[in-house]
Amino acid sequence: MKTSFVTLQQVEEITKTYPTPFHLYDEKGIRENARKLKEAFAWNKGFKEYFAVKATPNPYIINILREEGCGVDCSSLTELMLSESLGIKGEEIMFSSNVTPEEEYKKAYDLGAFINLDDYTHIQFLKETTGIPETIFCRYNPGGVFSLGTDIMDNPGESKYGFTKEQLIKGFRELKELGVKNFGIHSFLASNTVSNEYYPVLAKILFELAVELKEQTGIAVKYINLSGGIGVPYRPEDKENDIKIIGEGVRAVFEEVLVPNGMKDVAIFTELGRFMLAPYGCLVTKAIHEKHIYKEYIGLDACAVDLMRPAMYGAYHHITVLGKENEPCDHKYDVTGSLCENNDKFAIDRMLPKIEKGDYLVIHDTGAHGYAMGYNYNGKLKSAELLLKEDGTVQMIRRAETPKDYFATFDFGDILKDMKY
Ligand SMILES: *Cc1c(COP(=O)(O)O)cnc(C)c1O
Repeated sequence: MKTSFVTLQQVEEITKTYPTPFHLYDEKGIRENARKLKEAFAWNKGFKEYFAVKATPNPYIINILREEGCGVDCSSLTELMLSESLGIKGEEIMFSSNVTPEEEYKKAYDLGAFINLDDYTHIQFLKETTGIPETIFCRYNPGGVFSLGTDIMDNPGESKYGFTKEQLIKGFRELKELGVKNFGIHSFLASNTVSNEYYPVLAKILFELAVELKEQTGIAVKYINLSGGIGVPYRPEDKENDIKIIGEGVRAVFEEVLVPNGMKDVAIFTELGRFMLAPYGCLVTKAIHEKHIYKEYIGLDACAVDLMRPAMYGAYHHITVLGKENEPCDHKYDVTGSLCENNDKFAIDRMLPKIEKGDYLVIHDTGAHGYAMGYNYNGKLKSAELLLKEDGTVQMIRRAETPKDYFATFDFGDILKDMKY
């Protein structure tokens, strides 16, 4: 059974100040989880998590993680600027981008970030744009399909990212010629893996690659970045990953592959987004309509603008009707937003307790790739983000958008200029 970290009483209190819908983040949960990750990899002296900013690009959240020892993983100009505004620079930033515009490499270079190249041709591009820094990462794509046991997890051969192995060997030699002193490798082979096996299997691929690179080029990598991809149990029946077991799994292959090859000082990095934040955020929304046609519908004050994953991927997000946690789920609903798009449904044929207008619903696991993926379709405005602090108080960490924000990129029409909203 999935339970909400916020109660009806708390939401009734919060909505006296902040109307629904809003995303709410749980500081305590974020910190406890970040500590567990750090502990699971404490065996590796250089271990560092670079939080994938795209998952939850909010400075208050990034600051919490920073206090827990995390750096940031950026992939755009504004993500770099956000990090800079928090005083994060140098080796606390991993810049893992692709199809990178010149100005983004310039910004990353100026901040002294670790630059992770997505492609062989970017060696020349970076050389012409900023010059080659002393430390460089390269992203690896092994091609083919990626499987764990008999399960096909993802299809790297169809993905746009990374160097082939031949390109890596050639690229490493050229980068060394160009003065690179410290090398790192990176790979991201499957997303949202609900399996303790993913990281160890990925680690083995990267560790064996490191050994091969050493044999072929004489270069011993200093850093190995396992990137993101550890998932969370979105469904009640999903089995939660155990980060302790994952850390130990990576340690076992480290000792099997790297240590005998004289690479015991390699630092392990991660770039987790979903695992760091998804379960510690939820979308709090109110039922504002019910509709009875060929199916039963509940209409919410939130819509796909606030959470796009169901519309985009058909993703499952668990729903709790606050105050009705113990009532039987004997009503079948489509739970929808207000967009003129029939895929604006948070749930389809979901069994829930009977919902009345005015009920508060918690949509679970929206802490990563939730607010961040939002958009403004239908001219709908994005919600606020609130932080439930460890002391139980609530802080607004991003206000809701107003029409003025929506119209800010126009210079047209007096009505829009003199807006009261
Ligand atoms: C999206 C992304 C991540 C984070 O992925 P999660 O699935 O949220 O862990 C990490 N690294 C890169 C390069 C990414 O694109």
